[in-house]
Amino acid sequence: MDFRFSDRLKRLPPYLFVEIDKAKRKAISEGRDIIDLGIGDPDEASPKEVIEELCRALQDSKNHHYPLDQGIPDLRIRIAKWYKDRFGVTLNPDKEILVLIGSKEGIAHLPLAFVNPGDVSLVPDPCYPPYKGGTILSGGIVHAMPLLEENNFLPDLNKIKKDALKKARLLYINYPNNPTAAVCEKGFFEDVALFAKRHNIIIAHDAAYSEIAYDGYKPESFLKAAGAKEAGVEFHSLSKTCNMTGWRVGFVCGNEKIVSGIAKAKSNIDSGVFNALQVAGIKALDIADAHTQKMNNIYQERRDALVDGLNSIGWAVPKPKATFYVWTRIPKGCKSSIEFAGAVLKKADMVITPGIGLGESGEGYIRMALTVSKERMQEAVERLRCGVI
Ligand SMILES: *Cc1c(COP(=O)(O)O)cnc(C)c1O
Repeated sequence: MDFRFSDRLKRLPPYLFVEIDKAKRKAISEGRDIIDLGIGDPDEASPKEVIEELCRALQDSKNHHYPLDQGIPDLRIRIAKWYKDRFGVTLNPDKEILVLIGSKEGIAHLPLAFVNPGDVSLVPDPCYPPYKGGTILSGGIVHAMPLLEENNFLPDLNKIKKDALKKARLLYINYPNNPTAAVCEKGFFEDVALFAKRHNIIIAHDAAYSEIAYDGYKPESFLKAAGAKEAGVEFHSLSKTCNMTGWRVGFVCGNEKIVSGIAKAKSNIDSGVFNALQVAGIKALDIADAHTQKMNNIYQERRDALVDGLNSIGWAVPKPKATFYVWTRIPKGCKSSIEFAGAVLKKADMVITPGIGLGESGEGYIRMALTVSKERMQEAVERLRCGVI
């Protein structure tokens, strides 16, 4: 038989970490002591209160049926309250909030609802891969907006090419940013909302790291900016906020029409988040503030151990104000981020993410995740002390 992949599947970008993944698995199978700073997945357990709430909710048979398309009303009401308390943003739980199977799902389904074949999505580069993947799977064209250090890793909206702009339906932004760990000020969100209005483009702000921040910095909501709710939506997730990556609970909030479009696309593909998990999600939002304070202290200690340590051995690493990533240049004399990541794995038994894997403008950089203990961070610095190239 002759099965062939669809054209849209063939257009998905190649997975660049194949070689590093292979080498990592081999190293682990050889019993080497690998420090994995590659994956953005919190290492600490999900909160005990949330696990207990899930156990209770599991016993209740009314949670065993198909979920409602939009998500259970109690969770949507709790999300609205969280937005009000945390950001001062008012949302209508019936029309402006949709529960997602993790935010990745909604981020990737959004173009199905608003991007026709040949339309353009404006996507930051480097970026979280589903912005590109979702666009390509819906037949859209990805137009990269480089995130450059000289612009504090903010996209330069004035540099977007005219013909791309004409066909653009969608613009993704993500602050605090993965992978660059950059943050933005409210003025940037206002500029983006204004830009969206002028060019009739939907803004999708990915706020997965809104709760992971340090040194007293508190990230803002895009929806707080003037004109934002007319222009777009914001994606959130319990994954990073509450150490719940495996649970798959996220949500999208904001413009009613955009939210309804995602809901319609989704309702033809999935049947929502298991109700018991949604009940547990309510508990997660109840404890989110206390939980993130505790986790941020832990991440901050690790950040300081890694960044201060690397700087003490001659690197020049900036200290991130938010996210659990450190984004820094590869050492001088090193040809590429892939080459450097390979050498780090081979010589220091450490996994790091080469920037090129997250976009062309990521070349020359690496990303390290703060998802191992402070002691392991110190050990990581020791292993890099003598250099790997
Ligand atoms: C981890 C992450 C998410 C969250 O994904 P979930 O599907 O909610 O687990 C979204 N955006 C970015 C940039 C991330 O790094």
